[in-house]
Amino acid sequence: MSKVANFDPIIDRFGRLHTNLRVSVTDRCNIRCFYCMSDEHVEFKPRTEILSYEEIERFVAVVARMGVNKIRLTGGEPLVRHGLSRLVARLAALPGIDDLALTTNGILLEEQAAELKAAGLRRVNISLDALSEATFRRIARRDGLDRVLAGIAAAQRVCFDKIRLNAVAIRGLTEAEVVPLARFARDRSLELRFIEYMPLDADGAWQTDQVLTGEEIRRLITAEVAQLVPAERPDPSQPATDFAYADGGGLVGFINPVSQPFCGDCNRLRLTADGKVRNCLFSLVEWDARALMRGGGSDRDLAELVRDCVAAKKPGHGIDDEDFIRPDRAMYQIGG
Ligand code: SAM
Ligand code: SF4
Repeated sequence: MSKVANFDPIIDRFGRLHTNLRVSVTDRCNIRCFYCMSDEHVEFKPRTEILSYEEIERFVAVVARMGVNKIRLTGGEPLVRHGLSRLVARLAALPGIDDLALTTNGILLEEQAAELKAAGLRRVNISLDALSEATFRRIARRDGLDRVLAGIAAAQRVCFDKIRLNAVAIRGLTEAEVVPLARFARDRSLELRFIEYMPLDADGAWQTDQVLTGEEIRRLITAEVAQLVPAERPDPSQPATDFAYADGGGLVGFINPVSQPFCGDCNRLRLTADGKVRNCLFSLVEWDARALMRGGGSDRDLAELVRDCVAAKKPGHGIDDEDFIRPDRAMYQIGG
């Protein structure tokens, strides 16, 4: 718990203490992954509806006073937002923020890695689903693999405290990428996480049988790369189940929201780029922090809005329920 907390901590009806906030800084992106956005005619929020850096900083300062100490910047693609390192510097300077991280597709990282590091960014997750140009293109529907690889190299050069690769796994498409990705990460001492495909694609085309499960991937890696053994779980609220190579060559994690939901330990809140607070990726309801801030609400009002949002959090995402309803927003409009 943060040392600056002077509002009550954020605890939901199920006793889950919320200390982790994902902040989407934009809904725009420079590629078009099929599991997230549509390929063409994507509608973005007008700039006036997107929170300013000052508004984001204010929101984060308030939740930091409620005990939130971990922030991850995401999007859309966060590096397409102009001057992101200015926001990083402002958030890094806030009392109570112990951990400031970024999730990026890596395309603009080579240009920005050094200034982000200098601004106070500690950890970077870089999305890399495929090492083959053809598969990258089938997923992203744009070129850019060489830029992502250059971004990874730049991140390593500037020595962030931690760099992790995130790969969404899709049955019928990325099986052949698993072993090359595992070797790539192992050779560079990078942590790798595989993420199951969730029903958050803008096209609404997700189907259960496209989910390549973490368990299947683990078997593939064990058979072709090296034996994996369960690793320690330092933070019970982390979404990934980590494994270590038995010979000591690094970590591979599995985020299995579909086959093994981890909602019982969820400690995450989300702020969308247009200023809505969400208690779950799959929430059907959101709380309007932008309207409150622009309407002259106080910090205490903002804290109460966050508390109301978390009070309404459900025990789980319910993807498997018969009455499951997808949220109106796709992943790029929420912030993964
Ligand atoms: N643009 C950045 C990126 O791609 O890393 C940050 C935003 S993106 C929405 C955050 C993460 O969500 C990425 O690792 C992406 O692969 C993942 N993601 C997007 N859509 C997903 C889906 N339908 N299921 C699972 N993961 C998804
Ligand atoms: Fe862009 Fe990230 Fe969505 Fe891919 S997953 S379209 S990179 S926001």
